Amino acid sequence: MAKRIVILGAGESGTGAAVLAQKKGFETFVSDMSAIKDKYKQMLDERNIRWEEGQHSESLILNADEVIKSPGIPNDAPIILKLKAQGTPVISEIEFAGRYTHAKMICITGSNGKTTTTSLIYHIFKKAGLNVGLAGNIGRSLAYQVAECNFDYYVIELSSFQLDNMYKFHANIAVLMNITPDHLDRYNYEMQNYVDAKFRIIQNQTDDDAFVFWNDDPIIQRELHKYGIHGRYFPFAEKKEEGLAAFTEQDKVCFTRPIAFNMEQEELALTGTHNLFNSMAAGISANIAGIHKECIREALKDFKGVEHRLEKVARVRGVDYINDSKATNVNSCWYALQSMKTKTILILGGKDKGNDYNEIASLVKEKCTGLIFMGLHNEKLHAFFDGFGIPTVDVQSMKDAVNAAYKMARQGETVLLSPCCASFDLFKSYEDRGDQFKECVKNL
Ligand code: ADP
Repeated sequence: MAKRIVILGAGESGTGAAVLAQKKGFETFVSDMSAIKDKYKQMLDERNIRWEEGQHSESLILNADEVIKSPGIPNDAPIILKLKAQGTPVISEIEFAGRYTHAKMICITGSNGKTTTTSLIYHIFKKAGLNVGLAGNIGRSLAYQVAECNFDYYVIELSSFQLDNMYKFHANIAVLMNITPDHLDRYNYEMQNYVDAKFRIIQNQTDDDAFVFWNDDPIIQRELHKYGIHGRYFPFAEKKEEGLAAFTEQDKVCFTRPIAFNMEQEELALTGTHNLFNSMAAGISANIAGIHKECIREALKDFKGVEHRLEKVARVRGVDYINDSKATNVNSCWYALQSMKTKTILILGGKDKGNDYNEIASLVKEKCTGLIFMGLHNEKLHAFFDGFGIPTVDVQSMKDAVNAAYKMARQGETVLLSPCCASFDLFKSYEDRGDQFKECVKNL
């Protein structure tokens, strides 16, 4: 009898896992507590994969030989606890897919910068003509691509939730951007649990593999020694130091190994210190993969950026409009403001997640000539920023926000949407917020 695989959650990763499991001859069943999107139902139906929605039927789940869990389902969900209690292995979609491919895996994690760095690495590999797939949190799931495509390389964005249920998977190149507190509600409010999840990116690495990381991150530094790391180290940092694989010197970004080469910092397509790190991590990964230095340079120069992350929208009457809707916390807004080269009108606000605005206070004083508070509840923003002597406006729609910014901004200034907050009070998602911003700017 074929082994029975049950997949919990039928989003991109769950449906992909089901497609692969079916293809590999497993008896496959998919169960989702919520409604399954039509496009995924269709994918399952076309392949005669059985599924249920709106419930988890224990009689159809507890008899699994192995369970693949979507990253969105917490490890302490009742059904997961039951499976674990009876000893059923619970793994992630990435772990499952990794069993069925010999492709080289370039895996990226971190608290911030994952999507940007993953997209940039993919861009360089593609430009170099490699047969490469983009997977993880972006695009199609890894499992789907392993089932339906035949790539030699995968560039994979991994969240801590995906890493949680990975055991045998092994990254040929592991990239760890940084570790700052995030998602602690899913880790028993224990920072160490979250840190341990992030470090799973290097588990099972061998001496032939590579570990790329930001050398100045205090948590990474503290933890490094614990893990008895195999593989080769490729640390990067802003200031030159012995042993770094990339650093800056004068106006240059210097890559030291395997092949040494430089490029002007000015030439990097992505601006701001955080993007310097993202560019370094991507350049090192491509260098390790043997991509020619000329090609890496060109790709770091002509990368178009990722939507909603410091995305240049338009210049209207001498004013630049920038969409950084993905800045859903104060730290990412700090990096955005820090990269502004002109005076700035900042649009911020939304669903507050316990924000402490002290982090951006001095940058706001230095750079902002106007603040637009866009949210259902702007009281906290007023309480914090009103004493700064900067003009403020309250709005409750993107159209009003962009119109207010248009009136406030003088020639040579920049209007920056970098909200510090989640979007759910006025918008469906950060993408919706960013799309509305772009639409309103284009209609100016
Ligand atoms: P993630 O996928 O980890 O959420 P993104 O690449 O989508 O990261 O970037 C999200 C936000 O985080 C961006 O708007 C940017 O302001 C900020 N950011 C990007 N890269 C970094 C980095 N290396 N360090 C700190 N913040 C960053």
